[in-house]
Amino acid sequence: MDLNDIAKEIAQCRKCGLHQGRTQTVPGEGNPRAEVMFIGEGPGEKEDLQGRPFVGAAGKYLSQLLEMIGWKRADVFIANVVKCRPPKNRDPLPEEVETCTTNYLFRQIAVIKPAVIVTLGRHSLNRFVPDRIISRDHGKPFRVKGQVYYPIYHPAAALYRGALRADIESDFRKLPQVIAKAKLKPKKLPEASALDNLNKSAKIDSSRQQRLLT
Ligand code: SF4
Repeated sequence: MDLNDIAKEIAQCRKCGLHQGRTQTVPGEGNPRAEVMFIGEGPGEKEDLQGRPFVGAAGKYLSQLLEMIGWKRADVFIANVVKCRPPKNRDPLPEEVETCTTNYLFRQIAVIKPAVIVTLGRHSLNRFVPDRIISRDHGKPFRVKGQVYYPIYHPAAALYRGALRADIESDFRKLPQVIAKAKLKPKKLPEASALDNLNKSAKIDSSRQQRLLT
């Protein structure tokens, strides 16, 4: 089974309601041996028409971010948690994400075996680690069962809110280091549970601080 076989299955898929509104499926594209996979939310209008991921304004910005660190789109693999466009670009429903990722995305990951999965935005991050918060956890790599994840804001979010550009660009600049560490010293990256404990104690600290201030 290779990525083309999976893409052929996706093209025929009717496993969730999103198949009803699609023009065509968007399985993902890029280097089948990529060290890094970028995983976004779902296809928009342009992606649905072209059958390719990240080809609209957010995609153009993603290409610029890659160029900023000396990479091309063809160096990486780009996909989404759902392969069909949600109607009127609504958020994909949890059951749609569950069905699509279980049937296709996780199999694509198993074939590509990336050193790092870059989650773009909240939906992608929360499919892998449900209790993460993108505004708090972006730019902090972590491991789950040996797989390294690196959460970054969705490029579309940075287009809507210009203030996020500095964060997304700074997180992108750190990506080559994250990959090098994931390949050479993965154990130096924290397990998700260790980060959760840190977040919990930060929360306790801030509520203590709040109590002291009020
Ligand atoms: S979104 Fe995924 S699971 Fe749903 S119909 Fe499309 S390919 Fe199938």
